[in-house]
Amino acid sequence: MLGAGAGVIVVGGTVGGYAYRRSMRVSSQEAGRLRKARFVIAGGSIGGLTVAARLLRGVPGANVTIIEPRAVHHYQPGYTLVGAGVYKPKDVLFDQESLHQPGMRWIRDAVAAFKPERNRVVTRGGEVVEYDYLVVGLGVEMDRGSIEGFEAALETPYAANIYDLESAVKFRELATAFEGGEAVFTYPTGYVKCGGAPQKISWLSEDLWRRKGKRGKVEVNFHTPQPSLFPVVPVIDNIVMPMMEERGLQNHYRQNLRAIDVSTRTAIFEVESSSGAKREVRQHYDLLHPMPRFRTPEPLRAGPLTAEGIGGQLEVDRHTLRHKHFANIFGVGDCAATGAPKTAATIRKQAPVVVGNLFDAALDRELSHAYDGTSGCPLLTRYGRCMMFEFDFEGNLVNEWLYQSTKETRLWWNFKVHGLKRLYRHVMINGWV
Ligand SMILES: Cc1cc2nc3c(=O)[nH]c(=O)nc-3n(C[C@H](O)[C@H](O)[C@H](O)COP(=O)(O)OP(=O)(O)OC[C@H]3O[C@@H](n4cnc5c(N)ncnc54)[C@H](O)[C@@H]3O)c2cc1C
Repeated sequence: MLGAGAGVIVVGGTVGGYAYRRSMRVSSQEAGRLRKARFVIAGGSIGGLTVAARLLRGVPGANVTIIEPRAVHHYQPGYTLVGAGVYKPKDVLFDQESLHQPGMRWIRDAVAAFKPERNRVVTRGGEVVEYDYLVVGLGVEMDRGSIEGFEAALETPYAANIYDLESAVKFRELATAFEGGEAVFTYPTGYVKCGGAPQKISWLSEDLWRRKGKRGKVEVNFHTPQPSLFPVVPVIDNIVMPMMEERGLQNHYRQNLRAIDVSTRTAIFEVESSSGAKREVRQHYDLLHPMPRFRTPEPLRAGPLTAEGIGGQLEVDRHTLRHKHFANIFGVGDCAATGAPKTAATIRKQAPVVVGNLFDAALDRELSHAYDGTSGCPLLTRYGRCMMFEFDFEGNLVNEWLYQSTKETRLWWNFKVHGLKRLYRHVMINGWV
């Protein structure tokens, strides 16, 4: 995932270093021109910060402004490990300012509106911020209203969701205290932030109950609107499907969670048959991990930077990452409509493309960098075991020789628990990708 990062560091230092220098290379005259441009970055999480840091590494003294409301940064890839009891909440929190490179200007506010025709954004506090180049990295959020009864369910002692840090802590407590019954995990429709996480937490929970000697008393159900567990990467799908069946997980396909009846502890699914006919299925739960749909933040989905049919995402070319209608706007990370998985691993590949193309655009050159669709996933299959793999837009495995992608190994578990956070914090956020 951030994994090829491992590849770059562990085995590919020379090639990675060359690629890094090549896309950062600007002459001192060009650097002088680039210093005159105002680069504004909306959203200062892993996408925005990686782009900003890399920009400043390429052109020290560049005019870079980040607009980000949060004072505390969340390392979201660690949430699954909080839900699994491996990390504590403090392990996934960083002071935002400590992640900023010298020279970055920080506007601690949220974008309220994009005004691309006038090259400006307006913040909630009313500040008008003008730019020459804008990078949008607003991420995506849970659409909590997309499942009737979702919020009410999370207030009961029977449901929690690891996509929210507080609720991830609650999930750990519920899973640890669970003595048996129906455990129900669900998967949403539409685009999903880290499409592997809902499966990972169900598999780790199953393993937890097995290790505690409670497995015989628990029925583990996974309901998904998809036709299989990991259809994005067929090779991996073909391995995990039988693996999970062997472990006794009850997988229910083509089922979409529509509502939760808190009073009877019932999850209500809409089921679509292969002919397209719809019916309702009800499932009792004693422990529920419900997943609503995702959406982009309000100013993006409401504004002029999205388009019909892409769910409020930023309308970019999926290779250049440039906006399809506004040539001085680029996208990075989850909010961009690239069709790639919404993961930090994807950002590791996108950030160099965005910065290289920003430099090209600002120097009036043809865009010369292209995102190839590569992303990755550390699939935590049980405690102490992980499958690590990278894949392309078509779902083909890449760098399989490095990852030994089809095997569950302790090495990759250790790397996920101990290595990836360092890579995220010290390599990506410092702009070394
Ligand atoms: C449970 C879970 C497990 C995950 N596991 C993995 C994993 O194993 N591997 C992996 O690679 N990835 C994983 N991810 C995904 C990864 O965390 C995201 O892909 C990544 O954080 C996306 O980065 P981003 O910068 O695009 O968006 P985000 O990190 O979501 O950040 C968006 C930023 O925009 C800011 N913002 C929002 N609205 C506004 C506004 N109006 N104005 C200004 N700023 C705004 C927010 O405050 C936030 O800081 C996981 C995520 C979760 C939740």
